[in-house]
This record gives sequence, C-alpha cells and structure tokens, in this order.
Amino acid sequence: MRPKPPASNDAHLRLRDPVSRIPGLGPARARRLEEEGVKTVGDFLLRLPFRYEDRRRYGTVATLAPGEAATVLVRVRGVRSSRMRRGLLRIEAIADDETGAIRVVWHNRYPSFATSLGSGRSAVLYGTPTLTPRGELRLENPETEVVVPGEDADPLHSGRIVGIHHRIASIPPRVWRSLARRTLDRLATDFAAASAPAEEIRSGLEQAHFPESIERAEAGRRLLASEELLVLAAGIEEKRKRLRKRPGRLLRADDALRQVAREVLPFPLTAAQKRALREIAADLSSGRAMARLLQGDVGSGKTVVAGLALLLAAKNRVQGAIMAPTEILAEQHASALAPWMERAGVRLGLLTGRVRGEPRRALLDALAAGKIDVLIGTHALIEAPVRFRDLAFVVVDEQHRFGVAHRARLFGKGESPHVLVMTASPIPRSLAWAIYGELDVSILEEKPPGRSPIVTRVREEKGRAKIYRFAAERVRAGERVYVVVPAIEEGRREVAATRATAERIAREVPDVPIATLHGRMPPEQRTRVLAEFSEGRVGILVATTVVEVGVDVPEATFMIVENAEVFGLAQLHQLRGRVGRSPRRSWCALIVGDRAGEDARRRLAMLEQTSDGFVIAEKDLEVRGPGDLLGSRQAGLLAMRVADPVRDLTRLREARRRVVERMARGEEIVSDLFGYP
Ligand code: ADP
Ligand code: MG
Repeated sequence: MRPKPPASNDAHLRLRDPVSRIPGLGPARARRLEEEGVKTVGDFLLRLPFRYEDRRRYGTVATLAPGEAATVLVRVRGVRSSRMRRGLLRIEAIADDETGAIRVVWHNRYPSFATSLGSGRSAVLYGTPTLTPRGELRLENPETEVVVPGEDADPLHSGRIVGIHHRIASIPPRVWRSLARRTLDRLATDFAAASAPAEEIRSGLEQAHFPESIERAEAGRRLLASEELLVLAAGIEEKRKRLRKRPGRLLRADDALRQVAREVLPFPLTAAQKRALREIAADLSSGRAMARLLQGDVGSGKTVVAGLALLLAAKNRVQGAIMAPTEILAEQHASALAPWMERAGVRLGLLTGRVRGEPRRALLDALAAGKIDVLIGTHALIEAPVRFRDLAFVVVDEQHRFGVAHRARLFGKGESPHVLVMTASPIPRSLAWAIYGELDVSILEEKPPGRSPIVTRVREEKGRAKIYRFAAERVRAGERVYVVVPAIEEGRREVAATRATAERIAREVPDVPIATLHGRMPPEQRTRVLAEFSEGRVGILVATTVVEVGVDVPEATFMIVENAEVFGLAQLHQLRGRVGRSPRRSWCALIVGDRAGEDARRRLAMLEQTSDGFVIAEKDLEVRGPGDLLGSRQAGLLAMRVADPVRDLTRLREARRRVVERMARGEEIVSDLFGYP
C-alpha cells in the first residue's frame, strides 16, 4: 500500500539521533519539539496517533447530519476572516463537493491558517456538524488538513486508515504524518530492542502510525507497550540491585530491647505488626541498608511499627527521622509516639514550619549535637540546613504526597540510611510494583483487634436532615462526627464550602457544637480546632480533604461525605478509615449530589459491600486511572509513553519475571527506543 521503502543506503536514521536530523523538519520546529521533550528520533516516533480515522471512504457533504462526526474531502471557497482578540481570526468559508455545500467556521486561528486555506484549495475536514438557530447546517472548528495541490490522492493522507497525531510544536497532523513516513522509511533497523527483534519493533511502529486496520494499530501499540514495560521493569530491577548494594549500619534488636518495647507499649502487637517488625529488624541487622515499603490500610498500625523501629535505632545510638506529608500529620505522629517512646528514653524532636526563631535554632543545635534521637517533621527536615549528627534511619509517611524524586534525595541523606516508606493506600499490585518496585514490601493486612466494621450507606441529598439528626445523636452519646466536603479548588471555595455546610447542619441540629477546618486556616488555628474536636468540645467537624482529616480520634464514629461522587473510591475508603478506630459501632454516609448519574451511585455502592482496600483500589484504577490513587505527581512519574497504566500495567509482572530471568543469565536489556540503559 505504501511506497516501496527506499534503498538501504538511505536507511541512516537512528533512534537516538537528535530530532533535528529528521529530513524536512526545519530547525525552528526541531527546537520547539525539543522543548516539548521530543528530543530524539525515537521520541518522535513514540508520539503515536491518539485517534484513527477511516478515510478509505469519505463522507459526502450531502450526507452530513447534525451531531454525527464525519470526514469529508471538500473544496474551500469564499474564505473571509474577521479579527478576534490578540491578533487571532475568525474564519468563515463555504466547503463543497459534487453533492452539496456547507458553511464552515474556524475560531481563534492565526492569519497563516487563513492564507493556507486560500480559495479553491482542497481540504479534509473532520468534525461534527451542528444546526444554527435558523436551521442551517454548519461545521464549526473542524480538524482541518489542507491538501497540497497535486497531492489529493496521496496514499499517506487518504484512501486508508489515517492516524491523527496530537498537535505538538504547532505541527499539523498532515505534516506530522509526512515526517513520520520519512522517518520510518529512513530508519536503520539495526537498533537495540529488548522485547522483540528490531525488525518487529519497527513494524510495530509502522502499524501504529500507518495501520492497515484499527486492529493492527492496536497490535502495534501493544508490541511497543511490551517493549516499554520490559524497559520499565529492567530499570526498576537495576535500581533495586543498586539499593541492595548500599551498605547499611548494623542495628541490632536484643532481648533487652524487646522487653523495653513490651513494657512501654500500651497494647500487644498484632501478628501482622510482629511480622513486619521482624522483617524490618532483619534488614537493619543485615549490614545492607533497608529499602522497605510498609503497606497497610488506615488504622492498621503502621505508625506504631515505625515507632518501634525508630526505638530500635535510638537504642543502637543512631538518629532517626519521620517525614510526614503535612504539619498536622507530623504533629499527630509526635503526639502519638511521644508518650511511650519517651517512656523508653527516646528523645523526640518536632520540626515544622511553625518552629521558628530561637526554639528552631536550639532544636537544630541539639540535633547536630546528637541530643535528639528521633526528629519528626515535614519534608523540611531533609532540606539542607537540617544537620544530623548521625542519621541512620528514615521513615517516610508517604500518603501519596512525596514523589520519587523526594525519595531519591532521602536515600542520599546521611550515610545511606535505612529507609522505611509507609503508605496507607492499598495500591493494586501492578501499580505498586511500578511505583515502589525497588523496595521490599511488608504488608499489614490485619487491623488491631476490637475494631468494628464500618457500616457504609449511599444516601441522597433529601435524606440529609435525617443524617444530621443521627450525627447529633452520636455527639450526644459522647462520640464525634466528621463531615467532609469536596473543595473543587483550594482557597475561597474551600472556605465557603465548609461554612455553607456547617450552617446547614447548624440549622438542623442547633444544639451541637460545630467547627470548620480548611486549608486557608493558619496552622495554629487548625491545631486548636483539632484539639477541641479531639477533646469533645467540638462535636461535628466540617472539613475539606485539603486538610488531612488524618487525625486519630478514637471517639469519632460517624463519617459523612458530601458530594461523594466527586471522590475516588480509594479516597473514600481512606476517609472512612478515620472512624471505626475503637470498639464502638461506626458509620459512613456517602451523600450523592442530586446531579450525580446512575453509574456514580453504582460505583459508590461498592463501598457498602466491601472493606477490602485492594479490591476497592483495583476498581478505582479501572474507572478513574492511576492519578486518583497515586496523586498526580506520582502518576506523572509513571511516565509511560505508550503503555497504558490500566490496560497494560497488569503485564508488568510478566515483564518483571522475564527481566529477572534474563539478568540472571547475564543478559543486558537495552532498548534504543525507550532509552535504557
Ligand atoms: P496507621 O498509621 O496504619 O494508620 P496507627 O499506627 O496510627 O495506624 O494506629 C492506629 C490506631 O490504632 C492508633 O490509635 C494506635 O494507637 C492503635 N494501635 C496500633 N496498633 C495497635 C495494636 N496492636 N493494638 C491496639 N491498638 C493499636
Ligand atoms: Mg498513621
């Protein structure tokens, strides 16, 4: 179908060549591509079409119908333009073929676009016609490819399935296609490929860009995704090996230490906590630096495990640190750990943005002098001016907030410290491995005893009054109630949203003390409100999620979430984990907004049925993608270019198995396309 590939002496382009070597790509565009991260020929080819159009048969103007997307090959006449803002034009023209004519309007175009349309030029238009109030059919802002004269029947752009590329560096899809054609035709096929012979990878690229059928396009993409997954797996495995090689301080747990731990802890550990602790202790006494993930649902007792590990470090006369994502959480860790750790003789310090001036200087001096054993704080504590005397153990309470870059910096702090990363989110295995694959994993799958399951119900807005009255009952029984409202954006809306909800509740149950908590509050005020809630002077706390509702208030038994449909399931699961922290019965009411659809209600209903975080996370990944589970920063770090984090990531496990096998045979995994190593 396509023109014969040129003679092999033309096949001189290499995947790792700079993008500027692509024939026909001018220096200005090459520069702009580079700025967009398309630096090499391989980068360029990996920008696959985001959509395919079947142009084996064009529609005709006569068959265009309102609301139905179609592609037509037309002649453009009577081009007129009028000025809009910032030098942009509104362009109008008549487009016709043998069967009829239609009015076309383009908004916000540069003058050069009008010029390129000329008059009497042919163009391929793709769009959805609409009816004007006067009943006239028109096409607004269609995707437009101006056909270069004499090129009408170019097999690259018509008479076939055509890939539409994203417009990057202002390169129109048609030009992109021509460049891709030239690049593929000149691509030397002796490049390094990891998952399949280079020739096969090349044909995957060919099919993804210039497919013979939609199925072939998908097959091509999958082949490339396999290559990418293999490279991703190899990268993770390399990193894992590197981390394993780091020497680590020998920290030993002896019987005396175990005795101390038993004496100071107010409760016996769960079996899961004991196992995690054994795994950690084994790492710490191995001579290698620990790099371990501690995974467990909210309330499973991770912080206690971390505290015991830090106690162990302190008893070995080295320093440790806990890094929390927010000041509130740092403070909470400090107040949760201080009572029993100080009883065990561990000297704790708390460093947040709020500690300033002389107290801060004193704290930092004490830290540098080794008079503090464990420092608790936000990420500020790994920043430069904070100096430890001998930091050997770092705990990161991740809660999705820190990126991999943060983690890397941590690993570099101190002399290859032991690192324990805590995460409360049950992440589906595939995804967890992509994000945390270089770490060993301990899982707390069991919650401390005496927790009652949380009864969860999806409710309509009209049921609010009843829900609020139930909330008031809980408060009168000496319990506490959270109300979470979504904050569409941080700032004013947040303040307004919490206040409006608090007022609505107050109208319904005027005798219950209510307070609000949001990200706009000064930290001191937040702490005060939380303390009042914890002590029971505030019964109902209306908060946004911008503020961690991550406080541990065992008396809290009822969680109400307003507009629950805007949250991911995993996030809701996390939120309801704030209640059910005592033997009392606990409830969660998910109020769906009146405008929410039926599928939102169905989705939420899942939370009524299961409290298995992993099952919930899998579902969430399927429905909302990884951004919701990981936070956008980490999701961005997945940085997969072709592979799909939902559809393809399940194959990562298989890729990993292959990588481990091949590395064991001493094979190197090299891919010129995905740039590893
Ligand atoms: P996580 O950090 O996983 O959310 P925490 O360590 O903060 O969990 O523990 C949640 C609550 O359970 C805390 O109040 C803690 O004191 C308590 N807790 C932890 N482990 C146990 C245990 N083994 N038995 C009883 N209570 C526990
Ligand atoms: Mg915790």
